[in-house]
Amino acid sequence: MKLDRERDLIIEYGRKLVSSGLTSGTGGNLSLFNRREGLIAVSPSGMDYFKTLKKDVVILDLNGNLVEGKRKPTSERDLHLYLYRARSDVNAVVHVHSVFATTLASLGWEIPPISYLVALSGSKVPVAPYATYGTPELAMAVTEYIKDFNAVLMANHGLVTVGEDLESGFNRAEIIEFISQVYWRARCVGEPIVLPEEEITRITEKFQSYGQRT
Ligand code: 13P
Ligand code: ZN
Repeated sequence: MKLDRERDLIIEYGRKLVSSGLTSGTGGNLSLFNRREGLIAVSPSGMDYFKTLKKDVVILDLNGNLVEGKRKPTSERDLHLYLYRARSDVNAVVHVHSVFATTLASLGWEIPPISYLVALSGSKVPVAPYATYGTPELAMAVTEYIKDFNAVLMANHGLVTVGEDLESGFNRAEIIEFISQVYWRARCVGEPIVLPEEEITRITEKFQSYGQRT
């Protein structure tokens, strides 16, 4: 079986998407790219995350060719492939239908830097224009934004985040959902204060050595 470790991680983080409340039902999908082998492990389409087994994970190459697996890959296959092609530093893609991010995405509200944590995306969290789920149009719309941001709201749909590994892609999704909730709550009662661009630049640099990183 190819990409043994990556299959385990797709299962582990798929379950985390549900248990952390980032997605419900079979919504959302995730993938992990092993650039050394040129192979991508993607979640199967429409399968319960808790019933998904190692053999259900689908292995594709960067052109979308099926390398291993009997299941239909995620309907957002193009989205995942396009993002890997657009950014050589990205090895994981996480897509969720989390409540607050999807609320903002349905309002067409991008998230300005109202919290220092927005720097995890970049200078803001933009909204990519609406396109039907599972289409190359949607993949293209998100790809336009991923060049400058690590998180993109998908109009009337949800959220996509990218990372150097699944842990960082997942953490970004969790934090952007938190920020979405804060932004929504703040807008309910007033006008949140937006941080200046220089501060976001400073935070981005500071994040390089955050936590146990040196
Ligand atoms: P899949 O089950 O095909 O991954 O689709 C879920 C989804 O979120 C579509 O955008
Ligand atoms: Zn979706």
